[in-house]
Amino acid sequence: MAMTDIESHKADLRIVQEQVRSFFAVRTEIKIYHGSSNSTRAFKFEKSKFVDISKLNRVIEINTQGQFVLVEPNVPMDLLVEQTLKYGLIPPVVPEFPGITVGGGIQGGAEESASFKYGLLHDCCLEYEVILGNGELISASREKNPDLFWGIAGSYGSLGVITLVKLKLIPAKDFVHLTYHTVKSFQEAVSLIKQKSSEPVNFIDGIMFSKYFGVVMIGSFSDSQKLPVSTFSKPNDEWFYLHAKKLSKNNFKYEELVPIRDYIFRYNRGAFWMGRYGFSIFKIPFIKFTRLILNGLFNTRVLYRLLRETNLSQLYFIQDFNLPSEKVLDFFDFAEKQLEIYPVWICPLKPGLEDKLSANYIKTDLVFNIGLWGEVQKDFKSFVKLNRLLEVKSSELKGRKMLYAHSYYPPEEFWKVYDLEWYNSLRKKYSATVTFPDIYEKTLVSEKYKTSILKGVLKVIKLYF
Ligand SMILES: Cc1cc2nc3c(=O)[nH]c(=O)nc-3n(C[C@H](O)[C@H](O)[C@H](O)COP(=O)(O)OP(=O)(O)OC[C@H]3O[C@@H](n4cnc5c(N)ncnc54)[C@H](O)[C@@H]3O)c2cc1C
Repeated sequence: MAMTDIESHKADLRIVQEQVRSFFAVRTEIKIYHGSSNSTRAFKFEKSKFVDISKLNRVIEINTQGQFVLVEPNVPMDLLVEQTLKYGLIPPVVPEFPGITVGGGIQGGAEESASFKYGLLHDCCLEYEVILGNGELISASREKNPDLFWGIAGSYGSLGVITLVKLKLIPAKDFVHLTYHTVKSFQEAVSLIKQKSSEPVNFIDGIMFSKYFGVVMIGSFSDSQKLPVSTFSKPNDEWFYLHAKKLSKNNFKYEELVPIRDYIFRYNRGAFWMGRYGFSIFKIPFIKFTRLILNGLFNTRVLYRLLRETNLSQLYFIQDFNLPSEKVLDFFDFAEKQLEIYPVWICPLKPGLEDKLSANYIKTDLVFNIGLWGEVQKDFKSFVKLNRLLEVKSSELKGRKMLYAHSYYPPEEFWKVYDLEWYNSLRKKYSATVTFPDIYEKTLVSEKYKTSILKGVLKVIKLYF
């Protein structure tokens, strides 16, 4: 007789537990492998240094009455949403890249345009099943082991392996009614976002296309059919940021409907706008026709894999900084002078309260995530210097950055942002010190990457085509 999903879960869980136990027995540090990653750090999988959780990729139960889903950590966002939408439900926060996994999103502090209301993905979680560094299995929730529950968010696999998640669901509708408001400055964008964040809307984000031109996008769930509908998932659809730019150039305010899946993953094709660098590297004209015929290559799964396999990430400044609302204008002015990178993504976040490692753990009324992703063409020394300048500035302004990207902090500065004493005591209490490298060690980039464009491209073609 075939095993049920929960029986399969238990069987695979035991295998992972055994792996962790065997590393613990020989006092060897391990990292977590699940087959993909949206981090920009270089990565090399070696079986002897990783615990493999790739089989934990099942949606175990969707409980419509209790409005929650029991899900394994290696389930990606597109699969999760596909399953929950069958019941008209959705996680309150769905990170916008389809390949971000539940476990990676919790450990990496994933967020989205509903985060002004609900916080980050982990804020929507109710309970975790966790394998500790000694192989012991425990659960953590707001009531049971709450210090681990809060501590594990944004801990990058340095406190335990999450093997099952109970995640809250909310009712969804077929469409998002999206209103585009053109803005003439970053300041105007920030004040409009602040104003809208206290209104009963579901989604808020913004893009600055240049210093004097941007858009703030406000979304609400809708069943109405009375407005024009735009989609962003088909090969001949426009990339979302180009669509938003065109609309806001031609209109002061524009309203339309976007089907729910298209809205959630609207930035997938083109990876926001980072995909355009693929065109410039290979000297392909960046026009609608080439975007159409190369569509299969320009989605986040392929592009981030390409970034990792070619090791090109040190040619680009790819960082997300979170700032308290009262300091975000100062930070933007500083970043503008140093980088002059456009477009810039703006995403408001509800501040974290107890999740001390999380990128939104900032004392303020509203946190602003500023996504600065673009080409910088610098030698390695100047590249690191530029990163350091922004790291120092964000700390000075009581901000934090998301640690999925390169981190260049010296240890004493890093541990001024994060609470070392609290973190070490948590690691000790939950037996993490022997088995899992600490968060500083895991996120620090200390070397120049060796790039290999041809080898990387061939590997990705083999993987996906
Ligand atoms: C250009 C760019 C833009 C981005 N923009 C956004 C954005 O707009 N919004 C957003 O939300 N995010 C964004 N991200 C970041 C993304 O959300 C995080 O990198 C997230 O962690 C990715 O999830 P993953 O499944 O790929 O995780 P991975 O990269 O595989 O893992 C992240 C960390 O979690 C650990 N881990 C994974 N699974 C487990 C587990 N089960 N138990 C314990 N530890 C585990 C890994 O070891 C690793 O340290 C962006 C990334 C890039 C490159």
